[in-house]
Amino acid sequence: MRRLLGALVVVALALSQATVTYGEQPPTVDGIVRLLLRLEQLMQAGDPEAYMNLLSAVADRKFARDASRVLIGPGITRAVIRERDRAPLDGTLPGDGYRLMIEILAERGSRARIETWRLDIRRVPTETTEDEWRVAGQQSLTSVDGLHRLALNPSKAYRARNLVVRSDDLEIRLPDGHVFVADTAEGPTAAVLLAGDGGTMSFRPAPEAEREQVRIYAGRDAIETRVEDVFLRFSPSEFAARLPSGSLTETVPDPALFRRADAMFREHVGKSFSLDLADLSRETWSLPPAAGDLLAEIRTRRFQTLTYSKSASDAEDISLFDRRRRRNISVYPSAARLAAGVSRFEEDARAPFDVSHYELEVSFDPARQWLDGRALLRLRVRADAINNLTLRLAENLTVRSIYSNEFGRLLSLRIRGQNSVIVNLNGYATRGTQITLDISYSGRLEPAEPDREALAPQFPQDRPEVTEGQSFPGETSLLYSTRTFWYPQGSSGGYATAVMHLTVPETYQLSASGELAPGSPVVVPGPERQPASRRYTFEARQPVRYLACLVSRLVRISARTVSLVEAIASLASSGAGAQPTDPLPAGSFNSELKLVVEANPRQLTRGRQALPVAADVMSFYTSIIGDSPYPELTLALIEKELPGGHSPAYLAVLYQPLPSSVTSWANDPAAFTAFPEYFIAHELAHQWWGQAVGWRTYHDQWVSEGFAQYFSALYARKRRGNELFGEMLRRMAKWARDQGKSGPVSLGYRLGHIQGDSRIFRAIVYNKSAIVLHMLRRMIGDDAFFRGIRRLYFGARFGKVGTDDVRAAFEKEGGQDLKRFFGAWIGGSGTPAVAYSWAPVADGAAPEVALRIEQRGKESEFPVTVTLHYAGGATEDAQVVVRGPAAEFRLPLKGELRDIVLNSDGFTPLEVVGR
Ligand SMILES: [Zn+2]
Repeated sequence: MRRLLGALVVVALALSQATVTYGEQPPTVDGIVRLLLRLEQLMQAGDPEAYMNLLSAVADRKFARDASRVLIGPGITRAVIRERDRAPLDGTLPGDGYRLMIEILAERGSRARIETWRLDIRRVPTETTEDEWRVAGQQSLTSVDGLHRLALNPSKAYRARNLVVRSDDLEIRLPDGHVFVADTAEGPTAAVLLAGDGGTMSFRPAPEAEREQVRIYAGRDAIETRVEDVFLRFSPSEFAARLPSGSLTETVPDPALFRRADAMFREHVGKSFSLDLADLSRETWSLPPAAGDLLAEIRTRRFQTLTYSKSASDAEDISLFDRRRRRNISVYPSAARLAAGVSRFEEDARAPFDVSHYELEVSFDPARQWLDGRALLRLRVRADAINNLTLRLAENLTVRSIYSNEFGRLLSLRIRGQNSVIVNLNGYATRGTQITLDISYSGRLEPAEPDREALAPQFPQDRPEVTEGQSFPGETSLLYSTRTFWYPQGSSGGYATAVMHLTVPETYQLSASGELAPGSPVVVPGPERQPASRRYTFEARQPVRYLACLVSRLVRISARTVSLVEAIASLASSGAGAQPTDPLPAGSFNSELKLVVEANPRQLTRGRQALPVAADVMSFYTSIIGDSPYPELTLALIEKELPGGHSPAYLAVLYQPLPSSVTSWANDPAAFTAFPEYFIAHELAHQWWGQAVGWRTYHDQWVSEGFAQYFSALYARKRRGNELFGEMLRRMAKWARDQGKSGPVSLGYRLGHIQGDSRIFRAIVYNKSAIVLHMLRRMIGDDAFFRGIRRLYFGARFGKVGTDDVRAAFEKEGGQDLKRFFGAWIGGSGTPAVAYSWAPVADGAAPEVALRIEQRGKESEFPVTVTLHYAGGATEDAQVVVRGPAAEFRLPLKGELRDIVLNSDGFTPLEVVGR
């Protein structure tokens, strides 16, 4: 339950697995440890006055007395103190004073509180050899209250009759069952329901697109099934509302039923709203859900355990998850959320800070997949006031230290199972504050497939079978990119510039998202008998969405400077080059592009062939848009099992399958065998779409893939002619139609997720999106279409767009309302089904035919080619735009009409169901 834990991070702040930053000295049983043990004892004894005995002569006794009352409150049953950081104390001789950062767990029965304190300590002279330490100052930094050690109450049980538990789109019914609860002082916050024979659940999402996914999952648009046991979490204040007393009667607990309930409770209590406190406590500590939130682990007969959650901290606040198969079945905003106007993730708008610049110093040991890094982040606070920052960093990477110019040495904390680091600021930073963080980190990191942004199989089911012991025979490479979290980064993934110093052993080479600095790489001799290494410096002067690097054995084949002047000029002179109706913001434009090709040693020939193609593609796209966003591009050809690619800013990686690869992907939506330049054309288009213009939420990923796909088709036309262009469009339309029922374009990565088939994702997010753009072009005309593309691009350069921004750009240039078109083709699933009829009309002066097209399925809006077949054998094409349930058109005739055929070019994904 990533989403629930994500919500918890906000609540829990300083909690959970601390990254222990001890500085240089490892902890030993020394005087300092004894001092902290003494403090633990005082807390358990509940004696604030005794704290005064721990003070050094220089301590301010009034401050200390106030602090001791906060620290040593009454009722503490257990206290655990852990030292997290130790730094020399200003104004003391080396070894005579330290500033400690300590974490404290203070338990009061089944409740607990976590505190972080700063403790200044000084050594006092003693007669013995043992050193003795006293407190010179103290300050509370953070605290989190309200942790509960939950347990099911064995002495309390209810008989449930006609109990109905409701939440948005969910209903759990127990005609006759048993209920056990876990109490807190504020009321029960967890319950286990044991359903009798008649227990049922029903889940029916309100949004249509979500019901379609449920249908794919369950065979019908509601999940209705028998339930066995249910584990519930809710706010303690809502027990009566969740489990109405009219349905419950207190009874004598049955030990056998309790054991069954307790087993269910123990299985699930740690999975959500719970914190792992590492060395502070091995027990499960839970936070209460917020009012209105609900979590239900529902054990069903048919689907095993389904997890329903309503979580107000998520923009899409309702979800249903299949635990066994690890599939998101539903994720969507509730009706109340929609009414409040929050219909989409607005991750950027919610981001509490922006990172504007990164400086990385990372060395890689590819053989061990190990990296040692140091990252300098420059960020600016956007929220009103924050006292912590959540960065993303792979869970496997250990933070060694964090230092900030503004806040000094900082403590970081991690949440188990998450690629995030919470940095405590030891104070508040207000809006506009600039913070520089210097973070050292290291660990073993296997690169994650940048799946959602790679043109390659995404799900395990898609990958070729690799028999145990049989390894990939090609050159290995490590691609650290988006989703690997190989460097500390902002949670919003906003745009930033960067300088990267990246080091690999001399036997390896490296490519990265940036311009290779002059004189780079430098071979650095290894220390005594150690092998030498190669240090690269890359600079991303233009803002990028994320940083990527590729470590492999790469041979630099050639570099070429491509002039873009002509391409940009051709735009102004061509018919399609008319400027957008409103002047666009002036930017700095690159008049030339440095193109570099690198390849694995066996791919040199292919690499040499790729260079002129890449140069041609980049010039061509520049001639369409009037800009090339990044001044340098490295095209890297690496060996992989299947074809595909990935294209971060400044870098395009093309996967070259080996001849021995047995798996064929000819039957893939992204296979265009007649167009060998397809992969280059698609990946290079991502420099504009996906990189310079990013996508706002997963619902908008089509903007990146659809434009990349359509641009590759435009390049196919330029290089190989209209016939191939038409063939590609027909193929795209066919995939769009055949997979149309799998869900709307706006479902993004979730397309094919339930089925575990990424071809569905490519059929819709790549091909349907591209054919939608082509239909749009047919509707508003070439001029408006290409002006719309430029309006969109320049309006969003180095920023993110959503579907509405795309629509607005084309509406502005096309002068048409496109709400219905985008609603049907991007927001809606399926493709149109039509029936048509025609009859000659003889009322006018010129002969005409009346054509009537009726929409039989879901109503849509689309252009379609009408082919008139004359008696003499001649044919004539016309185009009409169908709007509304039934559309009538008058078409002029040039002779005696024999037949009319709709969509003969196959460019519209539709089905003719009658005529
Ligand atoms: Zn792509």
